[in-house]
Amino acid sequence: MTVIEKRKLCAIGSPNCMQSGSAGALGLTAASPAATPPTEGDIYTCIFTALLSRRLQPGMRLGEDELATAFGVSRTKIRSALARLAQDGVVELRRNQGASVAQPSEELTRHVFALRSLVEPSVARDLAGQRGRGSLAALRRHLRLENDARKAGRDADLVRLTGAFHLMLAEKAGNPLVVRLLRELEAMTCLAILRFAPTAVAACPHNEHAALVGAIAAGDQDQAALLMRDHLDHVLSGLDFRIGPPSLSAALDLALVVT
Ligand SMILES: [Zn+2]
Repeated sequence: MTVIEKRKLCAIGSPNCMQSGSAGALGLTAASPAATPPTEGDIYTCIFTALLSRRLQPGMRLGEDELATAFGVSRTKIRSALARLAQDGVVELRRNQGASVAQPSEELTRHVFALRSLVEPSVARDLAGQRGRGSLAALRRHLRLENDARKAGRDADLVRLTGAFHLMLAEKAGNPLVVRLLRELEAMTCLAILRFAPTAVAACPHNEHAALVGAIAAGDQDQAALLMRDHLDHVLSGLDFRIGPPSLSAALDLALVVT
């Protein structure tokens, strides 16, 4: 593997990916033979993070051979990671065509938001009923991170952070089944935003997360549920379903990231 190839390989990871202990997956394995080979979980995390940080785009092909070379592991391990990503709905596996990043349709996107609108208002209501369950400081800290990303124009971080905010609410509310469901729905939402949002700023309108945390802190259950419902409506209405799939040239450029 050349130095240039290793640099390209490193581009697949984000800071989160590196923090997850999968630095070895990012080409450092080849650079330092003593490093531990990445696990299937490391590879899953790296690809998932690359999706959330817009390094991999909807529709982009994920070649097993290229990924196996990139991570320095067997195709078997890559296949297992891709199968897990397919279970999460963010990768499509097609017979004889391999894997590609899922491209949510308008219909699927509307189904995702319909389901989120059933679940998340009750999450906000539950949290407000307990005035945040002692998690207000963490929620407010997260809001500051979102604002920093928004002000600095770090769109990829903003998409990731706004999605993480919704998961954080579910985690604080304490129902693990809701957390699992929302994790999958958030991933599909993220892909829909990548495909259909004109800009990442459309991901979650400014200040709506802060208003939600305010209602939760005030213990206003009705207001928290209403704000969440309105917020999800705003995110959906910010999508432009006339936007077509990524152009071929964009896909080819992105392919360099993983080869
Ligand atoms: Zn939001």
